[in-house]
Amino acid sequence: MEKKLAWQPLAMDQQWPAKVFDVHCTECPRLHAFHEQNREKFPGHFNGPVPPFGPANAELLIVGLAPGLHGANRSGRPFTGDYCGDLLYSTLHKYGFANRPVSLAVGDGMQLLNARVSNAVKCVPPENKPTPAEIKTCNQFIAHEFKVHPPKAVLALGLVGHQAVLKAMDQRQSAFKFGHAAEHDLGAFRLFDSYHVSRYNTQTGRLTVPMFEAVLESISHFLKA
Ligand code: SF4
Repeated sequence: MEKKLAWQPLAMDQQWPAKVFDVHCTECPRLHAFHEQNREKFPGHFNGPVPPFGPANAELLIVGLAPGLHGANRSGRPFTGDYCGDLLYSTLHKYGFANRPVSLAVGDGMQLLNARVSNAVKCVPPENKPTPAEIKTCNQFIAHEFKVHPPKAVLALGLVGHQAVLKAMDQRQSAFKFGHAAEHDLGAFRLFDSYHVSRYNTQTGRLTVPMFEAVLESISHFLKA
């Protein structure tokens, strides 16, 4: 019997087949409970598993960490609703992967071009920290996404995204070390690493605009080659 939602999700950008994304998923009890709490506290928020954003046949897949409480968990679109997507979307626009530089909300006309954005963990975790068990449980979706919508290039934003990509591809973590601007040939696709575009990283200078643009430049060249 179909599970009933206790809430209504906002309009989705796209429908995804089961296993690539499941808006009804409640497999992580702690994250499900956190959604329930947040539905009470923030009834205007999306408060559900956040779907990937962008065309299914995109050659570039970007894998982040998890929705932010007042970002993707509010808007229902990855890296949208708070400052976290500012650098990401402006740079995607600069390199021709987006039709506009700012992602405001679902329904704002933003379109990704040959790129798709997803997260290692689809549900907002308390304090922005998913547990290893939650990362492992949610990995099923990324793994399936690689199978049914194989990308040519994957950009991992941060260590958790990098590890999730390796796990989904059944690769040894020790064989591919995370590092900003590192590139790894995984056979099926090339993995590009970047520090996460978080506010902490951009405000402290750990990740600067030129550093992030250099990674997108490499990806752009790789896809055109
Ligand atoms: S994090 Fe992933 S596996 Fe866990 S409940 Fe959310 S969608 Fe399901």
